[in-house]
Amino acid sequence: MLNLVKPEEIDFDNLGFAYIATKTMFWATHDGTKWTDGELRPFGTFEINPAACILNYGQGVFEGMKAQRTKQNELVLFRPLENAIRCKESCERLCIPPYDPQKFVYWVKQVVKANADYVPPYGKGALYIRPIIFGSGPILGVAPAPSYTMIIFVIPVGPYFKEGFNPIKLEISKKYHRAAPKGTGNIKYVGNYAGTMLPSEETHAAGFAQIIYLDAAEEKYIEEVGTANFFCVVDGILLTPQLGSILPGVTRKSVIELARDQLGMSVEERNVRYEEVFKASEVFCTGTAAVVTPIGSIMFEGKQYIFNDFKVGEITQKLYDLLTEIQLQERDDPYGWVENVND
Ligand SMILES: *Cc1c(COP(=O)(O)O)cnc(C)c1O
Repeated sequence: MLNLVKPEEIDFDNLGFAYIATKTMFWATHDGTKWTDGELRPFGTFEINPAACILNYGQGVFEGMKAQRTKQNELVLFRPLENAIRCKESCERLCIPPYDPQKFVYWVKQVVKANADYVPPYGKGALYIRPIIFGSGPILGVAPAPSYTMIIFVIPVGPYFKEGFNPIKLEISKKYHRAAPKGTGNIKYVGNYAGTMLPSEETHAAGFAQIIYLDAAEEKYIEEVGTANFFCVVDGILLTPQLGSILPGVTRKSVIELARDQLGMSVEERNVRYEEVFKASEVFCTGTAAVVTPIGSIMFEGKQYIFNDFKVGEITQKLYDLLTEIQLQERDDPYGWVENVND
């Protein structure tokens, strides 16, 4: 079931975050010696050996980025080289031959251009870009695959804030951990995500949007929110968990820079104890999909902590505006973060 949809059949006013097949994907293979140049192909299914390393031992990584249409009808990407470099680092941790970051960015642009009709109109969402690299060759013993496949496909998605920019309710859980210290939490390893599905289902059933995971060693410090990085404002200082077992988000890194340079805030990347968060004036999380999402309340051990009266905080709003205006070329981009797909 490909569910191929023509661009003119898409209802761009009612897009969510669901699978839709688009026209064209990128395809490259590695034969154990080197990557092929790669090519654009019609989006479609492919055959795979049952003994493929990805199926048996999960040797695979992914990335997540987006292309947006500006008011001037240009198609732009946000810091694509950051994703390309992170992908290389993810590959290295899993003994996957890394793909050249410059070529990665080149092919991301080609895939977006080939699917330009699927990029939602200005303000109606984005074209979500999903690069994947996995051990497709057969192997029986636990060892790196003899060969690899890389694919980049794209799916149009709606705006994250359909009903406006509203704070979400979260829950701190001690029932599950996301990532072990010195494990694979810091890379976009496919195996990190299946284990978060049951915790997500349970927290949804309890009325929360997501779980906030604590550090697995001591259960004292905030790690992150499912698929978004965590921030809070305490006594005017922006706090965010230091890198380690969390995923080094491109949005996280950008928000830290914006808070320091544009808002003149002090930002501390360090262990953030969960008790500190309870007295925060603002709390939010960041990611490619989540952008900057305000957190209105956090439930912990039967008690609900509410932030800024469940309203969007001033700093959260400013960071959201700065980030989205830069992303859509509606304000100066002093960092050169935004790239046109035709560049
Ligand atoms: C992708 C991801 C993020 C956000 O990273 P961005 O680069 O900002 O999109 C945060 N946490 C996890 C676990 C992720 O997989």
